[in-house]
Amino acid sequence: MNLEPIKTAARQAAALCSTVQKRHFVTSQKADNDGPVTIADYGAQALIANAIKSNFPGDAVLAEETGEQFVGLVPAEQRAKVVALIGEVLGRRVSESDVVSWLDYGKDVQADRTWVIDPIDGTKGFIAMRHYAIAIGVLRGGQAVGGVMACPGYPAYNGGGALLWTENDTCMIGPIAGFSGRQVRVSAIQDVQRVRVLESVEKSHAGFERMLRARMLAGLDAAPVERLDSMEKYARIAAGDAELYLRLPNLKSTRAHSTWDHAAGAALVRAAGGLATDIDGSPLDFSSGRTMARTRGMIVSNGRIHAQMIEGVRALLEEEAETASS
Ligand code: AMP
Ligand code: MG
Repeated sequence: MNLEPIKTAARQAAALCSTVQKRHFVTSQKADNDGPVTIADYGAQALIANAIKSNFPGDAVLAEETGEQFVGLVPAEQRAKVVALIGEVLGRRVSESDVVSWLDYGKDVQADRTWVIDPIDGTKGFIAMRHYAIAIGVLRGGQAVGGVMACPGYPAYNGGGALLWTENDTCMIGPIAGFSGRQVRVSAIQDVQRVRVLESVEKSHAGFERMLRARMLAGLDAAPVERLDSMEKYARIAAGDAELYLRLPNLKSTRAHSTWDHAAGAALVRAAGGLATDIDGSPLDFSSGRTMARTRGMIVSNGRIHAQMIEGVRALLEEEAETASS
């Protein structure tokens, strides 16, 4: 599988996102109250899906946004803006019906290979000018086997951001604007004083107190914690710039994890020699469509502290069960 055309699309999507950030900021709430969406989300998804259509026809695509939402929720004037931006990036005329058909390309198709697109992961971060990622994962047999991720806020390459991708079972990194790349691996750090921990920024996205308690029970509470939006957390683990990304839902949360929030990241971390698992250490299960129906949380690490963290989460669940029954 040659990911070059998808890397190109990720670069184009990053260019479009950055233009939207500079020129216009428009958000529309999704119908199902599933968080904000901007015209850049639609633009990025259309570019990536079009690249899949041209280069991997017949493959299935599972993407966050839909053509129906684009037409139904975005005012005509905003739609025209993003259609023009896509044309600008591609260097040719594009119509609105092209964009709508690209947005839905490969939807509901059954195939051996499924492309998973999160056009802007961390939209709240994108809007707040924090970190976000453009992520494309490849699924086969319910496992994440490949990925491309653009992280415009990655602290590398003189502030230009980083592109990460899988290549022959390894993980590569390079500048978003540029074509060079080098192999990266997860870090070898396991000393609890040196372990760097990542977690979400948004309070509604994860159970911060639970995660702190689990880290304490794992003996990892001395580690510095950085809060970072988006799947860039996976990229940092893959590139050896952090050791642990823990994600546990709020106790009261009933929302399942979305497949597109994890597929590309899991593939990068695995290719870099790390582990991205459910909280009991089993591989992340991407076989249930748009949501990860059976997944209870994520432990993503360089592998060295993984067993310790699984044990910490197990102890947390035991404590919580005791509290609930008393
Ligand atoms: P992060 O930047 O790590 O906070 O992750 C961003 C992603 O979290 C978004 O793309 C959302 O799809 C997802 N998200 C939002 N709320 C929740 C929730 N309650 N549980 C799990 N994921 C969520
Ligand atoms: Mg997302």
